[in-house]
Amino acid sequence: MTALAATIFAIKRYALHDGPHIRTTIFFKGCPLACHWCHNPEGMDFKVEILSLTEKCVGCRECLEKCPAQVLQLTPDGIRRDENRCTLCRTCTLTCPALAHEATGRQIGVGELVAEISKDLPFFDQSGGGITCSGGEPLCQPEFLYAFLTACGALGIHRAVDTSGFAPTETLLRIATVTDLFLFDVKLMDSKRHELYTGVTNNMIFSNLKALTATGKPIRIRIPVIAGVNTDEENIRATGALAAGCRVEGIDVLPYHPSATAKYRKLNKIYQGKLFTAPSGESLARIVEILQQYSDDVRIGG
Ligand code: SF4
Ligand code: SF4
Repeated sequence: MTALAATIFAIKRYALHDGPHIRTTIFFKGCPLACHWCHNPEGMDFKVEILSLTEKCVGCRECLEKCPAQVLQLTPDGIRRDENRCTLCRTCTLTCPALAHEATGRQIGVGELVAEISKDLPFFDQSGGGITCSGGEPLCQPEFLYAFLTACGALGIHRAVDTSGFAPTETLLRIATVTDLFLFDVKLMDSKRHELYTGVTNNMIFSNLKALTATGKPIRIRIPVIAGVNTDEENIRATGALAAGCRVEGIDVLPYHPSATAKYRKLNKIYQGKLFTAPSGESLARIVEILQQYSDDVRIGG
């Protein structure tokens, strides 16, 4: 088994919306996009992050004494860390009695991750489910991803990859050789608006979708639906036409929900998505009705 390692931030068991049947979803850390509505902000940064939750600190100074790198300070504004000198050793997360330090992300080897997900083999066997690699963007850790998916294939586990499609084409096509299903995000058809809301244009994403289609691999298009951003009929029809042209298996409509506010606060990141609203039931029904003109398999929630 290879000694490759990946940085992941979560493993979610019994996931019902990340591919067919019961899934175990592995969330890879780091993403080249910065979608304003992202509900997994812990997946944006590629490196492990240590958060200091100042409001929990009771001022006992335990972490200051135990920090091997001596990079913590107790100030009138709360606990402060010198990010440049912090070695990410996690001692503070283990010693703070008030749980005021929290780590997000960890390194994991291929063997360790395969052993971890192998515990779920009975569920996969019974339900026809499998693993889904999500994030963040799993294609950003391609060597690990390839080795992990290969190992899962050897165990007969169904493998899905949930991707933004923003990666070198050769990387995507290599991963396709060891993937059973792609969950491929299509956020906005207009490239300028795509760049405005995600930080990148959609040119490479769409050329990758075309290249992936040519491989014949099963693909489901996933549309995060955000009121006033991509809910207009023109965008929905263009997305439906794209899906039909790629002969995808189906389309998943993922309504935006403003549930990530607390996560952004903890990470000290600005949540631009709090300005958005979820689509109304009426709007959602209309979107599904339009998409059904392009695909026989349109689902809300995936
Ligand atoms: S150990 Fe926790 S409670 Fe004590 S000073 Fe450090 S952050 Fe505050
Ligand atoms: S992670 Fe380690 S080096 Fe960084 S602040 Fe905590 S104890 Fe210090």
